[in-house]
Amino acid sequence: MKNSFEIISEIDLEVAVFNEYKKYSSLGNVRNKESNLFNFEDLSQKGGNSRQAFIRDFSSNENDLVSIAKALNISLDVLYNTMKNNVNLLDSDYKFDKTSVITVHGKDHLNYKTYSISEIPNLYTELAKVEPFNIKSILHFVKRFGLPTGVRDFPQDFNSYDLMMMPIANYFELNHDLILYRDLFHLVQRYIRKDIKEIKQDRMNELNKILNYTELSHTKEFINNEIVRFKKLDEKDTLAYELNEIFSFYNELENQNLFKGFMYEGSNNQFIRKLSPNDLFGVAYIQLYNALINKPELKRCKFCNHYFESSSWKMNFCAPLPFRKRSSCEMAYNNQKYKK
Ligand SMILES: [Zn+2]
Repeated sequence: MKNSFEIISEIDLEVAVFNEYKKYSSLGNVRNKESNLFNFEDLSQKGGNSRQAFIRDFSSNENDLVSIAKALNISLDVLYNTMKNNVNLLDSDYKFDKTSVITVHGKDHLNYKTYSISEIPNLYTELAKVEPFNIKSILHFVKRFGLPTGVRDFPQDFNSYDLMMMPIANYFELNHDLILYRDLFHLVQRYIRKDIKEIKQDRMNELNKILNYTELSHTKEFINNEIVRFKKLDEKDTLAYELNEIFSFYNELENQNLFKGFMYEGSNNQFIRKLSPNDLFGVAYIQLYNALINKPELKRCKFCNHYFESSSWKMNFCAPLPFRKRSSCEMAYNNQKYKK
């Protein structure tokens, strides 16, 4: 006999990937684009300033802070001095380029293919590989998976709610979301791997950075106490502390409308956990959440050294990308081996 309630958790979504994408620094160029499918002038008006803050500042990945400093054309030291005493980077004198966009290139808006999210359970590890403010790295991802965020739009004669089609994204917003995503990914991956040594080291670095850059005596005192307290935590308490950080992160994402919580719907003796992500970041946040629960084995790829989810069979490389049958990392690794 069937259970009276079943929990179904799935994302039923097709994603459109266009043939070619390009970064445009001026909206003028986009406005002049001719398209039968989209009104690029309308699309380029949307978005651009909807992101409020880089949360987590000092606890962000060091590499990403370097990328932010580079994007602002300042040194890491100046960046830290700006961030001290809880100054929000977006309220500082340093201005990000908020007008650039990434959009479908040339006449290729007529040319796209689609993949199903259900076939790409590894989107969350792939998205974590993308380097913020590195246009080469970003386009590498976008060409394979589509824009991770942006203006969702359909051509008029389309009527499919389950198709995610994003012809244009604001470059700043995309990078902003990427940095946030990589921060949470970093927290979750080391939590899943129970890497206490790495967790402790990262937290100490973070606390010491705040200590070095703050002038407020009560902050200094608080941080010094935190350092003593954190050093003493055993494995169990360290993981509990981390889990708490992860949940606060999800809450913050919900507050900023960057992540929609789960909706539950009961019908036909089935509880359906309905997932309706805004964009690919939303999909990745859900996959990351599932990873937190299922605790898959995360291994470093033998070719690119990034984390990937190693399924039941023995895998040493990242999983195949959309529209591919074999792992690109495995093929690249083998090519390299034979060349030697
Ligand atoms: Zn790889």
